[in-house]
Amino acid sequence: MRNPSQPLEGNPSHPSAGLEFSDKGTAGSAPSSRQQKALDAARNILALTEENLDREGLRDTPKRFAKAYQTLLGGYALSPSAAVGQGIFPSEGPGLIAVQDVEFYSMCEHHLLPFWGQATVAYFPGTKILGLSKIPRLVDAFARRVQVQERITQQLLEAIRDLLEPRAILVRLEAQHLCMMMRGVEKQRSQTATQAVYGFDQLAVHEREQLIRLMK
Ligand SMILES: [Zn+2]
Repeated sequence: MRNPSQPLEGNPSHPSAGLEFSDKGTAGSAPSSRQQKALDAARNILALTEENLDREGLRDTPKRFAKAYQTLLGGYALSPSAAVGQGIFPSEGPGLIAVQDVEFYSMCEHHLLPFWGQATVAYFPGTKILGLSKIPRLVDAFARRVQVQERITQQLLEAIRDLLEPRAILVRLEAQHLCMMMRGVEKQRSQTATQAVYGFDQLAVHEREQLIRLMK
């Protein structure tokens, strides 16, 4: 159920890969057309405020905005296989591997406001396992895009399924959404949970119980 407008593959020539501003020597170098679009976007938003855009605090804001968004949307430049790099190893046994509370930050595609939270990724391996430090990298590759929480959850599951061919997977995300907290329903403390499961029916009863405990 992959959305064709949201390819799993990263693209090193994607716009977000080209937004970067150098901290030094910016005076002489003209921005690229993509950088210029990011600068214009920030200026257009600021123009709605009727603030003086030349005052000290705002003068370099478009440049800082473009640079920040290069990080916030940096996931487009990172494919799942690039994110895990050389981090796939032979499995040591069939037992559950669970990485819990991986912090992530993402941008709601409906309001362009941040949402953030924790991801839990758990799987029963087949013949391959992933280096533990690679799970947070994989989470970032999908979170640092314009997203909906459900899609990050599903994309993480698909990436782990394709990379490792494990027996079963659970991906669970809990997040707070600024678009809900700052506007609209203004539910300050509500956590949104999303979950995707693969291979559950193939597991032994005691293995299922281990996964269910992580579902909360
Ligand atoms: Zn939203």
